[in-house]
Amino acid sequence: MKTKTHFLLGAGISWISGAQITHEAAMASLLGILGGVSAVIPDMDLIFAAADEKAHRSQFSHSLGSSLVIAAAMMIPCVLIVRYTGFVLSNWWIAPIFASLFLSTFSHPATDSLTRAGTRLLWPISNRRFRGDFKYNDIVANSALSVLGLILIVAAVTCTEFL
Ligand SMILES: [Zn+2]
Repeated sequence: MKTKTHFLLGAGISWISGAQITHEAAMASLLGILGGVSAVIPDMDLIFAAADEKAHRSQFSHSLGSSLVIAAAMMIPCVLIVRYTGFVLSNWWIAPIFASLFLSTFSHPATDSLTRAGTRLLWPISNRRFRGDFKYNDIVANSALSVLGLILIVAAVTCTEFL
């Protein structure tokens, strides 16, 4: 899917789960933005695609395993931002925040598995390539997923406003 689709859906997932985890509007929005960034990271493999076409959407960037690694790496800026901006990070939030960032990141290979190129979504558990019938820039699929992301963001902002 397109970069902005991945960003919006990733942000929506982390924003709404961040609101549920922390009950704080500022922390939820921080998580939302980090989730959006995290969901875009798998396509960094396009840097290598110039040299080797197969590098794009390989299991090393678009899979369960790679999403776990990216989400773990995203915990570093998350904790640093929280520390240096004076938020209070409860120890109880660490695992749920990791889970939230993982879901945002994993939404990228999951939605890319709807494309014709597909992804090895469950690697390293399975090498099977999951694919669908959409082009990566399909306007209907991209619009539907972007609207879903926006609905999640609006819902998260609305629900934290009244806490
Ligand atoms: Zn991708």
